[in-house]
This record gives sequence, C-alpha cells and structure tokens, in this order.
Amino acid sequence: MVGPLDRLGPALGDALVRDPDIAATYAVDCSCAPTAPEHFTVVRARDVQDVVAVLEEAQAHGIPVVPQGARTSLTGASCATEGAIVLNVEDLRDLDIDPVEGHARVDPGLVTAELKSAAHEADLFYPPDPASADTCTIGGNIATNAGGLCCVKYGVTADYVKALEVVLPGGERIRTGKRTAKGVVGYDLTGLFVGSEGTLGVVTAAWVRLVPAPDPALTALATFDSLDDAVRGVLALRADRHRPSLLEFLDRASIAAVQAIGDFGFPSGCEAALLVQSDRPGHAGEDVIRYAATLAEAGAVETVVADNAAEADLLMKGRRMLNHALEAKGGRLAEDACVPIARLAQFVRIGQDISARSGVEITLSGHGGDGNLHPSLFFTRGDPDGLHRAEAALEDLLRAALDLGGTITGEHGIGVQKRRYLSWELGHAELARQRSVKTLFDPRGIMNPGKVY
Ligand SMILES: Cc1cc2nc3c(=O)[nH]c(=O)nc-3n(C[C@H](O)[C@H](O)[C@H](O)COP(=O)(O)OP(=O)(O)OC[C@H]3O[C@@H](n4cnc5c(N)ncnc54)[C@H](O)[C@@H]3O)c2cc1C
Repeated sequence: MVGPLDRLGPALGDALVRDPDIAATYAVDCSCAPTAPEHFTVVRARDVQDVVAVLEEAQAHGIPVVPQGARTSLTGASCATEGAIVLNVEDLRDLDIDPVEGHARVDPGLVTAELKSAAHEADLFYPPDPASADTCTIGGNIATNAGGLCCVKYGVTADYVKALEVVLPGGERIRTGKRTAKGVVGYDLTGLFVGSEGTLGVVTAAWVRLVPAPDPALTALATFDSLDDAVRGVLALRADRHRPSLLEFLDRASIAAVQAIGDFGFPSGCEAALLVQSDRPGHAGEDVIRYAATLAEAGAVETVVADNAAEADLLMKGRRMLNHALEAKGGRLAEDACVPIARLAQFVRIGQDISARSGVEITLSGHGGDGNLHPSLFFTRGDPDGLHRAEAALEDLLRAALDLGGTITGEHGIGVQKRRYLSWELGHAELARQRSVKTLFDPRGIMNPGKVY
C-alpha cells in the first residue's frame, strides 16, 4: 500500500530523514524525562516549499505534524508524538536587516544569538534574550513568546514581532501583521500566532523590530537578610525613571546551590540576592551606583558595584552558573510561574512553606523584576515516589501563583507538562473558546496534537 510518506518522498528528497538513528535525535526536547514515541517521521525542511508539501499531505491524510526548532522547550512542546511528522525548520536561516524600517526579516531556524549579533553589527539591538539564546531559534521563540533576562526593560518576544508568514494545515501560505511602522487593518493575527506553540501553523518568516543599540551593561549585586527588603528593592528599582535592563532574584536556597559549586561572592546565610544592570547609553555607570544606593535604602546588607564590563561579567557569573548548579543537584522539575511583582515575597514564602511541609527541596529564583520565577523542585532520579511528591508540591505552588493573581507560566508555555493545569487558569468556557479558534485554523486537529489543548 502506498502511504503518504511514500508519496511525499520524491518531492522531499533528502529533507526526509531516512536514517533511524538520525531521526531518533529529533524525538525529544529539554523537558523533564520526556519519552520518545515508537513511530514518527522527521522532515528537515530545506525551504518553504517543503513545509507546504508536508502540510498539504498531512491535512489530506489527517497526519499529525510537530513543528520543531532547536528542541530547547522545557515543557515537551516540541517532542515527537506517535505517528507524527516532525517538521524541523532549523535549516531555514536567512536574515535580512532593514535599518531604515528598523526591522529584520528572519527565517524561523535562525538561532536567536545569531540575530542578536547581526543586529549588533548593524549598530542595532534585538532585545529578547532567553537564557538558551545560543541554541534556540527565532521560530521557537515566536511560538513560545519567549522571555529572558532583560524583559524588565525591553519586554518579551511578542513586543518585537511585527509580521509573520505562516503555512497553515493544507499548505496555504498567509501573511499576518504589518511590515510598515504603523497599521490598523483587521484583527491582530500576529499576536494570535505568537505563543501558540505550533498548534495553528508553521511560522516560515518573521519581521522583527530592532531598536538602537544600548551600551554594554554594568552590574550591581545586593544581598539581603530579609526577603521583604529584597522585594522592596525590586519595587523601588521598577519605579526608577531609568528602569534597569536586568533585575534578577535569588532566594536563600538558590544562593546555597550556586555557592556549593564554587565561590561566586554571595555571603553565606543571606536570605536573598538581587543582580541589577543598566545598559543606558552614556549613563550605565551612574545608573548602577544609583541602583545600589536604592537597594541599600531598601535594606540591603551589602552592595557591590561593577564599574567596568569585566567586573560586571564577574558579578553575573553566579547567576549564569545557577542553571548548572541546579542541574548538578539531581532530578528536578524546572518550572516557571509569574506573580504580580508586589506579591513576590509572598510567593517565595509560600514556596518555602510548601518545601518544609512536603519535604521537597525547592529553590526559587529568576526574573524578579517581572515577578517571573523559575522554581526548581528536586527529586532523586529513579525514585517514582520522590517524583510524585515533587509534582504534588508543584501543584500547590501553581495554585498559589494563581491565588496571588499570577499565571502558571510566565515564559516557558504549556506544552505537554502543564496541559493538566490549563483549565485552572483559563476556566472551561475560555478553554472552549480557544479550542474553537484552533479549529478555525486547524479543522482536522493535526497541528501539534496533545500539546497545550
Ligand atoms: C537552558 C535553557 C534555558 C532557557 N531559558 C529560557 C528563558 O530564559 N526564557 C524563555 O522564555 N525560555 C527559556 N528556555 C526555553 C526554550 O529555550 C524556549 O521556549 C525557546 O523559545 C524554544 O525555542 P526552540 O527553537 O528550541 O523551539 P522548540 O523547543 O523546538 O519548540 C518550542 C515550541 O515552538 C514550536 N515551534 C518551533 N518552531 C516553530 C515554527 N517555525 N512554527 C511554529 N511553531 C514552532 C514547537 O512546536 C514547540 O511548540 C530555556 C531552555 C533551556 C534548555
């Protein structure tokens, strides 16, 4: 019997991955303990025509399609599913910067750091900076509305996407948004696709806004004996007329985890630390001195200011090592929740209480300036009971985030792992409305099934 992939084979040529060992490397993403399905096909698109061919065939035969970038998703959003075509677009990497319009036309497979560095060469700046920027792709960033470390000043990926080209199930190529500086025609379909986690179509090109280049950032570090003082510091800095370009928070347990792998200058026993940066052209030095004074006034027991790029880098080293330090501790649920900024201290305290009550070790750190923390919940690898306890503690933590007026994900998205909590936040009526929007674009439900909805 001739199957759809036999029909597609000649058209796709070497885009169709025939070597099972190579195909296996596209099975899973960076989420916790993902499982690879038994049967799936991998297509590495060479151009938009390959994307169109796959989506025509998939729609005609009801075959699931998993759009895929660099597989750095932490939620299982880019994992292959049983019987699916994994449509990887990493090889689509063209980039064209238009300095007059102040934007770039980007293919979806371009690595985020490459866009940032090309913009830098043109004396421009592409601000979104997920910590995975060296590996993740612009298509993946758009599909997850990725954030990162400098959102406190610059916002998230959605704030930079002006227009998209998307291939829909069935192969239709559509354009959304405006490539001009302004425009008000019709609904904001660009906004709909940003953050849709591959459930509506495949992004094949994006026009992203670039801004004038900042100065190299300078850094201040402040440590606190009291959580409330640290959060008071966050609020005071957010009210500064020249808002920091980075404002990161580490709780006591995160500081201990980092110091356990090396001395990164955090005093032992402090309750919280803040790292703060300014990249304001011509004024970064004066800003970080002012930020340090503000934090001292809020109750910091110690502040250190880096007045050159090398020192600034040194102060940031502990923060950069955090992920590595947490990985080194064993099995963990690497999580993501966002609460109103004024409630950050409450959220951290609830996390500490849940940890004490459940016996699950929990660290709480991340983008304090946005109220967006990445709790890590630890368990012993290979211990199903431990994993179960960590998951139960996570449920308590996510409920607490919602009770405080927050959200179950600030930037990582829903994927597979948070699907079960989606109705907690949206409610059943809203969930049904969102499902009907999906059906409008994807009537046969072939786009990334089992993810999000
Ligand atoms: C060490 C580490 C640090 C991280 N730090 C951050 C951080 O600071 N901030 C943050 O927001 N995230 C972070 N992440 C999560 C992850 O990097 C982001 O979600 C990123 O945007 C995913 O990009 P990707 O290219 O790897 O996409 P993938 O993982 O391949 O895909 C992610 C989702 O996008 C969809 N998708 C991919 N390409 C397309 C396309 N062209 N069209 C339609 N849908 C598509 C997929 O179907 C999937 O739903 C981190 C991950 C790791 C491993």
